[in-house]
Amino acid sequence: MSRPSLPTDRPLRDATRLIHEGEARSGFGEMSEAMYLTSGFAYDTMEAAEARFDGRDPGFIYSRFSNPTVATFEKRMIALEGAEAGRATASGMAAVTASMLCQVKAGDHVVAAKALFGSCRYVVEDLLPRFGVASTLVDGADLDQWRAAVRPETKAFFIETPTNPTLEVYDIAAIAGIAHEAGARLVVDNVFATPILQKPLTLGADVVVYSATKHIDGQGRTLGGMVLGSDQFVMDHLHNFLRQTGPSLSPFNAWTLAKGLETLSLRVHAMQASAAKIADVLAVHPKVTKLAYCGRADHPQAALVAKQMAGGGTLITFRIDGAKPEAFRFGNALQVVKISNNLGDAKSILTHPATTTHQRLAPEARAELGITDATLRLSVGLEHVDDLLEDVETALKAV
Ligand SMILES: *Cc1c(COP(=O)(O)O)cnc(C)c1O
Repeated sequence: MSRPSLPTDRPLRDATRLIHEGEARSGFGEMSEAMYLTSGFAYDTMEAAEARFDGRDPGFIYSRFSNPTVATFEKRMIALEGAEAGRATASGMAAVTASMLCQVKAGDHVVAAKALFGSCRYVVEDLLPRFGVASTLVDGADLDQWRAAVRPETKAFFIETPTNPTLEVYDIAAIAGIAHEAGARLVVDNVFATPILQKPLTLGADVVVYSATKHIDGQGRTLGGMVLGSDQFVMDHLHNFLRQTGPSLSPFNAWTLAKGLETLSLRVHAMQASAAKIADVLAVHPKVTKLAYCGRADHPQAALVAKQMAGGGTLITFRIDGAKPEAFRFGNALQVVKISNNLGDAKSILTHPATTTHQRLAPEARAELGITDATLRLSVGLEHVDDLLEDVETALKAV
């Protein structure tokens, strides 16, 4: 057999583990990760099949349960997050839905912050109650609201921080403390911060979920998701739910995402450096009325950002001086930055949340979250920062 892929006698840093963790070479000794595009696995004998199924032999059975290429991606994510265990899913929403549904039953109750990605809000606000799981939405920054929302049957808290699109930051350690006092788990959607800049498990969260579609792929190619937590959470709740309901990640997409992880740290840091420069220019521009960037000293929760994040991230949200026509004129005048609803991509992306990602919300609900018709979200990519600055400044002149 081949040599072990990593030294086991000393700890390795994230950047190294992201490149080597979880290697599963075939007999050919290929350098790049093999792609095991297979639904099933053959057994040498009937007895071998029996041993696989009764658990004496821990090998692979069926790609709905596990697959070598998917396992490579999972191992890299587990190492990066510092989690005990984790499972990949076909999309970020499959990860969010599974992370919640796997741990609740009719009669339970969940509490979530109001400021959520649209589909996450649907899961908490509309889907769970259809199956008898009540939900309460609170202002995530107000710890008293979390305390007041707790009921004897509360099983889970759900937050996203920084929030989409307003980039509000919630205190993960404090909210985890309230959850644990209530005997509930805290689930954190860590997409905006990325696992490079924020490690919710070390701050007290119980479960972390990702849309790997965003920074982890980072090149707009595939959907994917990941749920991470303790061995016990995965074994008692998540594993069986995923295995029996089947929102499995395809091995092809897992391969793409595992290769994405090799460059994740480099990409996030480069995008963040450009975002910081662009935020500084936009913040003082006369046609920009309000700007949020987690890396700026004027972020309302700058102290909390310093406490729980390792940087300001790759997203900027701002308001154009005006309303929808001005916001649209700005977007339509951009040439390098593309108009889309994705984020975390090598290509910079502008989004108008009110008419796209948050269109489903009633105008009052959007207003409550601070999303106006002039609000724009910029996901800063890997283009040369001067080209991005010229693009943004030219488009502002068109407003
Ligand atoms: C995109 C996104 C999701 C959903 O992920 P998909 O891969 O699109 O299913 C969930 N949460 C956040 C914060 C996101 O940005």
